[in-house]
Parts: sequence; structure tokens; C-alpha cells
Amino acid sequence: MGRTGLGGGVLRGVLRKSEVEVVRTRITLECTECKNRNYNMTKDKKTHPERMETKKYCKFCRSHTLHKETK
Ligand SMILES: [Zn+2]
Repeated sequence: MGRTGLGGGVLRGVLRKSEVEVVRTRITLECTECKNRNYNMTKDKKTHPERMETKKYCKFCRSHTLHKETK
């Protein structure tokens, strides 16, 4: 009786926005030894809300030094 002919019409286009939208912020990494800004990169503010610190090679110090995020 009341068949409306909606075959397998599944609702599509339901995007899970939270999975796609990642907030990436541009940061600069500065060598803590010589204060040179050696690296530009992006970070995920959700996973790294604090300032990042990472060991990277500094060509000025010619060794791996601690690099800190700067603005
Ligand atoms: Zn350095």
C-alpha cells in the first residue's frame, strides 16, 4: 500500500567533521644553544598544547641540540 519507492536511498554526506578538522599551527624551532631559528614546522595544537621541545641538528652548533618552539 504505502510504498514510496525509496530504494536503498541511504543518507550520505554525513561527514564526521571532528576527524577531518585538525588545527595545525605554524611554529619555529629555535636552538637553545645559539638561539638560531633552524626549523619551521607545523604542530597539532590538540596533541601539543604546550611549547614543543625537541632535539634537532643545529648546523651552527654542528651537533644535536635542544630546540624550543618560538613565536
Ligand atoms: Zn645551535
